[in-house]
Amino acid sequence: MIEESTIRSLHVEAMRHEDLHAGHDDHALFQASTVSALLDGAYEGDLTFAELAGEGDTGIGTLNGLDGEMIAIDGRFFRADVEGSLNEIDPDERTPFAVVSRFSPDRELPVTGPMDLAGLEELLDGDRAEAPVAVFRIDGRFGSVKARSVPRQHPPYRSLGEVVADQNVFEFGPVDGSLIGFRFPAWVEGVEIGGYHFHFVDRALTRGGHVLDLSIDSGVALVQHSDDLHIELPPGLELGSPDLAASTHEAISRVEHRG
Ligand SMILES: [Zn+2]
Repeated sequence: MIEESTIRSLHVEAMRHEDLHAGHDDHALFQASTVSALLDGAYEGDLTFAELAGEGDTGIGTLNGLDGEMIAIDGRFFRADVEGSLNEIDPDERTPFAVVSRFSPDRELPVTGPMDLAGLEELLDGDRAEAPVAVFRIDGRFGSVKARSVPRQHPPYRSLGEVVADQNVFEFGPVDGSLIGFRFPAWVEGVEIGGYHFHFVDRALTRGGHVLDLSIDSGVALVQHSDDLHIELPPGLELGSPDLAASTHEAISRVEHRG
């Protein structure tokens, strides 16, 4: 079953696991499940990392049991554990939430720092295209990166808000590395996280996490714009209509930007 909808200029197509290999546009972003489901404690997805790798080579997300922060770069999938240590994810492991792209940047922007996360987002905001969604890979030299990860959860699962209260915050730097992230419009909040969302990985592929703040000295931002999002929905989950319910927005803000 494939449901389609066009939300303003973003084309969203929902599919089931059995539709995965139906083949689709290489420029579409691919997402497993929704942020709303994750907020509600749906921490066990049906999609393997082998399957996810078939849909994209660059992206972010998490693992079943909310076992750390996931970052995909150059077709390799890594987990940043609760201490921020990185290891490569077994292709048989599964994800309850991830978004990936077959990264094909259409813009390249020099980043001349030092600037903090807000400054970097302002720079990226200055280069908005018509397309509603942007994928970023920013390679650079970072004075510092403040990041977090979360401990593996066990059933019965608590809500994401409660889990994030136990997040572990750490700081790297100075360090060379990459940010992988996305910018989604505010009006897809719930399906996704509105605004910017970055994960970090150091160049040595040893450390990483979900970025809370940073200072970048210099770098290059590669940007891919997209207006197509394919979402694989686990059994029982419907797409519903993305809305701007204040409660969802507040819950996401608490989870994504605290620390
Ligand atoms: Zn994250």
